[in-house]
Amino acid sequence: MTITPAELATAPVVAGLFATEAGRAHLIGSRCLGCGTLYFPQAISCRNPHCHDKTIEQTALPNRGILYSFTVQRYRPPPLFQMDDWQPYAIGVVDLGQGLHVMGMLTDIALDEIAIGMAMQLTLEPLINDSQRGSIITYKFKPETLA
Ligand SMILES: [Zn+2]
Repeated sequence: MTITPAELATAPVVAGLFATEAGRAHLIGSRCLGCGTLYFPQAISCRNPHCHDKTIEQTALPNRGILYSFTVQRYRPPPLFQMDDWQPYAIGVVDLGQGLHVMGMLTDIALDEIAIGMAMQLTLEPLINDSQRGSIITYKFKPETLA
């Protein structure tokens, strides 16, 4: 498989996690057509034991939510997790509504200013610079800015 320059510049950390439409990033999830349950990452079937129509469709998830919880990663994770210029960072759980909570790194805020209940929005940022794949992009959540 040949990687084009455009793909090289925006290679996602994992394919199928997020997309950009009209300059706005969103996570790609699944919605059950039977019971409406949302899943992230995408699911192949509904896991609701009370649901009888487990047909799943791909859906764009809301790109804004409320910070439900967070913690600060103060030691470098094992080598499987790669990150250039490592320093302590926050990981949060963001309530995107409709019962969906998504975990992600937090950015654009000092660690001691993070507060549960903050309005957050999705953003895409480089995670590592890979010599073969280029700049590897991941999703993060940052404090909401009105635009
Ligand atoms: Zn279902």
